Amino acid sequence: MNLCACLTLDGTSSANQRDGFALLGVGELRGITAVEHYRCMACGGEFSRVLLGEPRDRIWQSLPCVEPEQRPSRRH
Ligand SMILES: [Zn+2]
Repeated sequence: MNLCACLTLDGTSSANQRDGFALLGVGELRGITAVEHYRCMACGGEFSRVLLGEPRDRIWQSLPCVEPEQRPSRRH
């Protein structure tokens, strides 16, 4: 099983643009792009790219996997 290259992305500087990611959305703060939301096209992992704040905060961050369908089913 190959580990996706994006697994090394978490915590790295957001100043580095990466290939292989699809831009899903942009979050703005007072008209300035504050965060971009990407999905890895290889594995589907989602990342936020923080563009505002302290230099140590401007990083790529992996987002926790969220099931797209939140079914109100009962647990067994
Ligand atoms: Zn990936």
